[in-house]
This record gives sequence, structure tokens and C-alpha cells, in this order.
Amino acid sequence: MTPPERVLIAGAGPVGLVAAANLVRHGIPVAVFEAGPDLSNESRASTFHPPTLDMLDDLGIAQDLIAQGLKAAKFQYRSRQHGLIAQFDFAGIGDVTRHPFRVQCEQSKLTRILLKKLAKTADFAIAFSSPVHHVDQDSDSVTMTIDREGRTETQSGRWLIGADGARSDVRRSLGVEFEGFTWPERFLVVSTPFDFHRAIPDLVSVNYVADPERWHFLLQIPGLWRIMFPVWSGERDELALSPDFAQSLMAKVAPGISGYEITHTTLYRVHQRVAKTFCAGRVFLVGDAAHINNPLGGMGMNGGIHDAINLTARMVEVWRKTKPVDDFDRYDRQRRLVTKEHVETQSIQNKKDLESANPDFIERLAQIAADPAQTREYLLRVSMISSLKRAEQLG
Ligand SMILES: Cc1cc2nc3c(=O)[nH]c(=O)nc-3n(C[C@H](O)[C@H](O)[C@H](O)COP(=O)(O)OP(=O)(O)OC[C@H]3O[C@@H](n4cnc5c(N)ncnc54)[C@H](O)[C@@H]3O)c2cc1C
Repeated sequence: MTPPERVLIAGAGPVGLVAAANLVRHGIPVAVFEAGPDLSNESRASTFHPPTLDMLDDLGIAQDLIAQGLKAAKFQYRSRQHGLIAQFDFAGIGDVTRHPFRVQCEQSKLTRILLKKLAKTADFAIAFSSPVHHVDQDSDSVTMTIDREGRTETQSGRWLIGADGARSDVRRSLGVEFEGFTWPERFLVVSTPFDFHRAIPDLVSVNYVADPERWHFLLQIPGLWRIMFPVWSGERDELALSPDFAQSLMAKVAPGISGYEITHTTLYRVHQRVAKTFCAGRVFLVGDAAHINNPLGGMGMNGGIHDAINLTARMVEVWRKTKPVDDFDRYDRQRRLVTKEHVETQSIQNKKDLESANPDFIERLAQIAADPAQTREYLLRVSMISSLKRAEQLG
């Protein structure tokens, strides 16, 4: 029997739905299978970098996202001891992006915007409460086994995109190793409606604060601020999640302010892992299924969206027979290498800088901020534009 001419996607997170949107835009039918009963509401990534906004603009959804988010053109590095060290402004790279700013907006807003747009398209289908378990393939098609309403069923298509997150069942079914390590400390994210602009002079919406004792990251999203702290391995989960613990950390953020209204706390483990391959025949890994990293620099979801666009642009060409199937090798080569070289290296360096707060780091940042050429190179790197250029150069 001829398999249905469509692309299967496991997972309706931001990366799976961006992949779906780019395929559907080019007239390729897509069927998405999501384990959850609805789109996730979890409070997770909230930063969209300039080139990601350019990609979302090509999909016709950047304006909706910007309308629901907060534009952050500037970001700061501070140290608890020395105050402001350096401020950077994405206006400095306004010639290479249509969006010279970050947008601070919850990833759950993006998935809803995408689903609303996709649902109007005949080429798009989605099934919730449909976890993918197992994957098989032959020379013509890929077939996955799904649990739905207590029954096991199979679904086939030309290719499968595994966008099913860090614990990917697609990756497990393929037997692909997820190489890397887990940090001993966990990260605690505390959300409060308190407006830190009132308490810290000259603060911007994105602020990294270095401190050898306990660094923090202070980030504004519409209606809330989120503050992220490390939680050391000796500090038990029950302690870390207690209101007193959050208040004790928050009391050190702005001088003289304590007793915050806290709306939400999340404690999570942080990993640095990259799948040994992003391609296995007709099956491809994207986003957290392919790589995970610490959130300093906001590169996890952004890198995943870059994977989705890179892969689906190739799928369009191969589908139309304007490129040969071996073009998919480039997806693995480009995206895996830049994930290792850029996302993993940069996120590890960001963490080291914040936790050491040593004079070298402070001097290095001040020097970069004082020199226009170095500032430009730095902005290209942190906005992830350099990683996309590097991927192109890999051919
Ligand atoms: C607490 C937390 C905070 C974070 N903060 C940041 C941040 O500040 N900045 C940043 O860049 N990144 C952050 N991240 C990472 C970021 O959220 C991810 O990089 C991003 O969600 C990746 O998107 P994704 O679509 O690849 O995976 P996910 O968002 O995990 O989506 C995967 C989807 O697949 C579904 N699924 C799972 N298993 C199956 C299956 N077997 N079959 C079908 N569907 C399945 C899931 O239900 C889910 O909907 C954070 C992550 C966590 C956990």
C-alpha cells in the first residue's frame, strides 16, 4: 500500500509547530501527534532572538508575537559588587536583521498563535492525547506507533520529525545517544509582579547579575518579572521550593526591598546534551529532542526553531525534487556542529562568567562595550546570527 504523502511530527511544542508551519506554507501536508491533551501551558522559554523573529516573520506570525510580548532592545551585565558593568543595544546590528531587539514573551503564546493559524489550513492535522511510542521505517516510508484512547494504532508518512522534547521517545526508539552531562546545581525561577524598574535605577528588561556566592538573572515579561537563581546541590528540593527560601534570595535583588508577592516558582534540573546524530534515515530530531542546554543566553528554544527552519526548508526542496535526498546530511552537519560550537559552548561560558564574577570577565565585558567593532561581533554572537552564518558556511 502506498504510504500517505505527508510529513509526521511528534510533539506540538514551539519547535514542532514551527516545523509544521513552514511545511504547510509550502503546500506540504503535515500531521502532528501530541502526547498532552492540549498545548502546554508551562512557564518555560520567554526570549525570542532577532534572527528567530525574522524567521517567524517569514511565517507571518512575528507581529502577533510582538503584540503579546515586550520588546527588549537592550541588555545589561551587572555584578552584585560593582553594579552596572556593561550595557548592549541590538540597534548596533540593525543592518543585518529586521528585528534589532529581543522579544520577551512566553513560549506558550507562540504555540497558540501557530496553532490558530495552522488550524485554518487544509494541509494541517493535529491529534492530542496521542503519544508516539515506537518508530519503524523502510525505503519508502516511516511508521510510528501511537497510543490513543487506550488503543494502539499506527500512522505512516514520508518523513518523521521528532520534536517531542528532551525525553524524546522518537530519539529513544531510534537508539540515538544523548551525550553530555547534568549540572550538580538546579535552577530556581521566581516570578513576581513587582516592577524592578521602580527599585533599581537604569535597569533594562534583561539583566545578568554576576556573583560568586549566588548569581541571578532578572528578566521582564509582560506583567511579571522572572528571577533565576542557582540552587546548590546541598539545598534540598523541599527547602528550595519553600516560600521563605525564595523570599531570602529575592531580598538580595534590590536594596531595601523584601516581602515580595510571588506568583510562581519553578525548580528544574539543567543539562548540556547533544544527540549523537540528528538524522536517522527518514527520521529527524529537532529542538530539545536533539539538544538541551542551560537557559543563560536564551538559546534552547531559539536554536530549536533554527533547526526546524533549516530542516523543513530542505524537506520542501526534496519533496519538490529540486534537491536530492542526501541534502538532509547537511541538516545534521550544520545544526549539530553549530549546536556544539555555539549553543553549548556559549551557554556554558555564560554560566561560568556569572558564577565567577572574576575581574577578567568584568574587564573583558567593559572592553567589548567600549569598542564598536567588538560590540558588533559580540551582538552577532549573542543574537545567534553568527551561528546561522557559520551553519551556512559549512555547506
Ligand atoms: C523550566 C524550564 C525553563 C526553561 N527556560 C528557558 C529559557 O528561559 N530560555 C530558553 O531558550 N529555553 C528555556 N527552556 C528550554 C525551552 O523551554 C525548550 O528549549 C523548548 O521548549 C524546546 O521546544 P521543543 O518544541 O523542542 O520541546 P518542548 O517544548 O518540550 O515540546 C515537546 C512537545 O512534545 C510533546 N511530547 C513529549 N513526548 C511525546 C511523545 N512521545 N509523543 C508525542 N508528543 C510528545 C510534549 O508534550 C510537548 O508538547 C526551559 C525549559 C524548562 C523545562
